[in-house]
Amino acid sequence: MRVYVVHYSEIALKGKNRSYFEKKLVSNLKRKLGDDSIKIRREYGRIVIDSGEERIENVLRKTPGVKYSALAEMVEPDVELIAEKAIEFAPDSGTFRVETKRSYKEFPMNSMEVNRLIGERILRAKKNLKVDLRNPENTVYIEISKDHAYVYSGRIEGVGGLPTGVSGKVVTLISGGIDSPVSAFMAMKRGAEVVAVHFFNSTIHSPSVRKKIHDLARKLSEYHRIKLYMVPFVQIQREIIAKIPADYRMVVYRRSMMRMASMIAEKENAKAIFTGDNLGQVASQTLDNMRTIYEAAQYPVLTPLIGLDKDEIIEVARKIGTYEISILPYEDCCSLLMSRHPVTKTTPEDVMRFEGFCNLQEEEAVENAEVYEYGF
Ligand code: ATP
Ligand code: MG
Repeated sequence: MRVYVVHYSEIALKGKNRSYFEKKLVSNLKRKLGDDSIKIRREYGRIVIDSGEERIENVLRKTPGVKYSALAEMVEPDVELIAEKAIEFAPDSGTFRVETKRSYKEFPMNSMEVNRLIGERILRAKKNLKVDLRNPENTVYIEISKDHAYVYSGRIEGVGGLPTGVSGKVVTLISGGIDSPVSAFMAMKRGAEVVAVHFFNSTIHSPSVRKKIHDLARKLSEYHRIKLYMVPFVQIQREIIAKIPADYRMVVYRRSMMRMASMIAEKENAKAIFTGDNLGQVASQTLDNMRTIYEAAQYPVLTPLIGLDKDEIIEVARKIGTYEISILPYEDCCSLLMSRHPVTKTTPEDVMRFEGFCNLQEEEAVENAEVYEYGF
């Protein structure tokens, strides 16, 4: 019988939490597969999906917590049966080795003995093969547990990290740019459920802006389900434009976003706010301005991209599939009427003085937000 054998990263290290982490991974996989008839089992050190359906591979590639997986043949833990399958999985020519993992220690042979015996059987059956223990072109993997043995070649790489949800929930600020979707992905990858928030200016006559944010949310939901708040920003922006000198507007916009993100975090029981900020990249991302902006938040502001170079961020964006969406042209609410020379050095005190002149209807904006769900 064909099954998927799933290996997780780091979970094994988490002591008492281990079973909680495994259960979360199983329930995430179940939801994404969307088919109750597919059985998913927890075995010691692995998860097994009792189905060989091809579409499962794509889910395994994109589920945080999965380090690697493989389409394997499941047989009874008997060396003769294992040998038969191992010969099928072995290539016909070139070099190979056998790698055995034995989690059932009462199995009559140890891993080395299984490697040797199965290797010999394969060589006997396929005369053009050579063993290369160091740098083989192919590896035949064997895993032996109490009730089953699994044989496969070829691993399916996963994204690694932790099962989404085990770390709680965060609010992630999503613009239409390259950086913030990567930041949301990193939150998911470290186990945090994501509530994405986008502030939009409905007077921008480009339907592509909204579509873009929805497309990004949909893409991210291939990794884990995501809730999306679309918060109307136009009135707040008008007020800021009316009352605040041009060079300070960007910082005031961002502080307002932080206050509203905090309200949403409270509503959603999220524990932190994630952004795509990247130290020094643009004027709003100097240390002074980040301090001024984050000061307006009621929750810790976390910025997983802070130490990356742009090309490193782009590499991740390409890998997760958001890059192509992010580079489509769009009008950010804040790129309109933006100052050419925004201030790079502000203090919260300065900016609060300006804010005192404004009547920013932030509660109303959050109340009027449209809420969407992807992948639920
Ligand atoms: P990105 O590539 O994510 O747009 P950026 O390098 O262009 O980032 P900024 O445009 O200065 O940087 O934005 C910094 C961060 O502020 C973004 O990564 C995002 O988290 C948040 N942000 C900016 N604009 C918006 C918006 N309209 N709605 C929600 N979040 C926003
Ligand atoms: Mg941007």
